[in-house]
Parts: sequence; C-alpha cells; structure tokens
Amino acid sequence: MILPHGGVLFLDELGEFPAHVLDALRQPIEEGVVRVSRATSTATLPARFQMVAASNPCPCGGGAPGECECDVTARMKYFRRISGPFLDRFDLRVSVGAARVDDLLGREVGESTAVVRERVLAARELAIERAGKVNAALSADELEVFAPLDHAAESLVRREFEANRLTARGLHRVRRVARTIGDLAGAPEAISVELLTVALQLRVPFAGSSRVRVA
Ligand SMILES: [Zn+2]
Repeated sequence: MILPHGGVLFLDELGEFPAHVLDALRQPIEEGVVRVSRATSTATLPARFQMVAASNPCPCGGGAPGECECDVTARMKYFRRISGPFLDRFDLRVSVGAARVDDLLGREVGESTAVVRERVLAARELAIERAGKVNAALSADELEVFAPLDHAAESLVRREFEANRLTARGLHRVRRVARTIGDLAGAPEAISVELLTVALQLRVPFAGSSRVRVA
C-alpha cells in the first residue's frame, strides 16, 4: 500500500535510483502535492511526506576505513546521479560511522525511545503554540518572525553564502532545524550562532567516506 500523504518515504540505497526518478520528487517535496496530467485533465493530489534516504558511500559499501575497493571514477559515477538541488532539499544529512562492537553488544545503554519521544512531543507543542504549526512548515516570512537570527548568526550565514556552502533554500532549512534544536534544548529565543552551527553540522557534504543517512 502506498501512502503518499502523511507518511514516510524511505529511499534505501539512494545512489541506485535513476536521476530522473529522484528529480521527479522535487515538486512534491517543495509543494506537498503531486500533479497527474492526462490528455483531458489534471488531478492534484496531496503528497506531503517525510523523506528519509540512506546510501552507502560507494558501490562496494565502504566497509572499515581503508577497505574500499572503488576507484575515484566509480565513486564519482555513483554520486553523480544525485543532484545538488535534490540533496539541498534534505533538512538533515548525517554521516553514520561503522558501529562499535560495544554498541552491538549493548554494554552502553542509550536513551530509550520513550524518553526521546517525550522530548520531541514537548518541542512540537512549543512550536505549535508559538506559530500554529511545526517548524518544518514555517515559510520564509514566518522564519523572520519565529526564527530570527542574532547578529553573530547573521554573520555566519553571510560567510557560508560567500563561500558557496549555503543556498537560499538551504538557509531556510537550516533555520528551521536551528529553531527545532533550540526548542528541544528549551531555548526558544532568537537563533544564536551556536544553534546555527549545530544545524550546519547536520548538513554534511554527501560524498563522505562513511555511510551517509539523509533525512
Ligand atoms: Zn567502495
């Protein structure tokens, strides 16, 4: 069963999808609708979903550091299918390293999902009380009101722009993420340079050396 609206779209092995398939997702991601055109009519269907994708760093899967068998050409070819504009539409791009044996054996107990859930729910409530919607749905104009940048954060944005590390679309996404990080930490005032830095660190360049999960 396909749930194009209100569901999660998980694209495993992102590098294996044909480029035209990924680029066809751009419009529903931006507008939250899918338009189906036939000879006599066009239907517009709701399609606001959460997109999650995962990819190995290269065709061989990478493995432990130094074990990759792919040459530079093979790695480039693997990632060429995934366009910059498509990647720019992900709020978070996180590099996930190989699991440590202690993690696999469960010696260190992490936070339970139930505890994290409570924190996430509280942050969502805060956002909805403040703006009437979750942070992910804030428009560019609303970001000016609900996620203002302080002076130092604005300087950082300027530097990122000048170094071509940030696009206009990327900036909106980073501000929404920074707003959410602040809400999770109980810091709902203006976006500080610290919050913005964390949000930028959660957008790693894609063709890294370890497994990458983009969301
Ligand atoms: Zn490889």
